[in-house]
Amino acid sequence: MKIICIGRNYAAHAKEMKAEVPTEPVFFMKPDTALLKENVFYIPDFTKDLHHELELVLKICKAGKHIHEQFAGSYYDEIGLGIDFTARDIQAQCKAQGLPWEKAKAFDNSAPIGTFVKKSDLDLQTIQLELKVNGERRQLGRVSDLIFSFDKIISYVSQFITLKTGDLIYTGTPEGVGPVKIGDTLEGFLNEHHLLTLTIK
Ligand code: MG
Repeated sequence: MKIICIGRNYAAHAKEMKAEVPTEPVFFMKPDTALLKENVFYIPDFTKDLHHELELVLKICKAGKHIHEQFAGSYYDEIGLGIDFTARDIQAQCKAQGLPWEKAKAFDNSAPIGTFVKKSDLDLQTIQLELKVNGERRQLGRVSDLIFSFDKIISYVSQFITLKTGDLIYTGTPEGVGPVKIGDTLEGFLNEHHLLTLTIK
């Protein structure tokens, strides 16, 4: 399986990163070794500024290429929460040198994933995601704030890369990203569903 991540998909987050709001989806990938299903995350020693990015995650349920936006909804059947951990200091160096982001984004365990909710159990227009760190809200986003919809993302990415069953698409983070430190507890909520808990070590 592969992990596809969308960047800058909420205008307020693009602004906080001092990045332009994109006119077409920006995506990058993480390898399967980035996936973390456990509840404990160890901060790697190569970064001094590890940031959380809570994201809605789509689970692909059938293979497809060149998927038309009109039919994209049938290619995912579950929605969950994941964290696109980012070594912000490394990413800043990569950006400054015009280099790829993989060192900052695709390292082992950089993609914690929580449990999923069936798409059919959700009202897709009103989904909200929230990250609490040590019980305090840090990120809050609404699906209505997405620059590129789920269907648009699936359609766009599948023009370049074949999607397969079990692939995950991290759909971008709302504003409020920030550093984590040893001892923090991160909790992710999709509406009233508590889907993710992570202790930082
Ligand atoms: Mg992200």
